[in-house]
Amino acid sequence: MKKILLLLLTAIALTASGQEVICHRGYWDTEGSAQNSIRSLVKADSINAWGSEFDVWMTADGVLVVNHDETFNGVTIETAKWKQLKNMRLANGEPLPTLDQMLECGKKLQTRLILEMKPHTSREQEKEAAKKIVKMVKKKGLQDRIEYITFSYQGMKNLKEMAPESTPIYYLNGELSPSQLAELDVAGIDYSIKVMREHPQWIDEAHSLGMKVNVWTVNSDRDMDWCINYGVDFITTNAPELLQLKLAQ
Ligand code: MG
Repeated sequence: MKKILLLLLTAIALTASGQEVICHRGYWDTEGSAQNSIRSLVKADSINAWGSEFDVWMTADGVLVVNHDETFNGVTIETAKWKQLKNMRLANGEPLPTLDQMLECGKKLQTRLILEMKPHTSREQEKEAAKKIVKMVKKKGLQDRIEYITFSYQGMKNLKEMAPESTPIYYLNGELSPSQLAELDVAGIDYSIKVMREHPQWIDEAHSLGMKVNVWTVNSDRDMDWCINYGVDFITTNAPELLQLKLAQ
């Protein structure tokens, strides 16, 4: 009973703060998990993280693959065929996931899906990737649970054009002020802690423009406290349970 009450109070405190936790590459720094694995998405959901982030590439033959680096086991994803990758395994033993598998799993969970589309070398291929991503998300009925983030300026514009009006899209690259981004009508900025410490005024600037602020990758006590005190809306971290505890205090 005591435990239930504590959980309830934690949930209320988390909601009241208005600041949300996003697991960076899923909740991977925990037993049985791995970065960008299906398990990391399930783990993020199991701790009631607001969102779980993962990275997406497209192979040369059009398969959307979840992985952070441009290569996996020495194979460059964007120039490879899926058959070169499909038998490969992550550090936790599960197969290298496709976006299809990731979204299929996401359908059964509550956590929001923060999909990072990686900048591809070929503009055409990246545009095709954006098109396929948006189409797949629609087919899975996940349009209300997805948010897009990307370092690619062109990719952001493509996603903005293709996704439903209500889909939040954030820019990662860090060189544009919120005012400079405002004309693109995106949801906000999703910048590194380093960039944000250099431009703390961008937080109020974004808010005054009706935009939100996400900061990554916030792992230390010091950086977490900074984000909480400055009113950052979404904090992307490798240590989600520590951040949840801080937000509940
Ligand atoms: Mg990412």
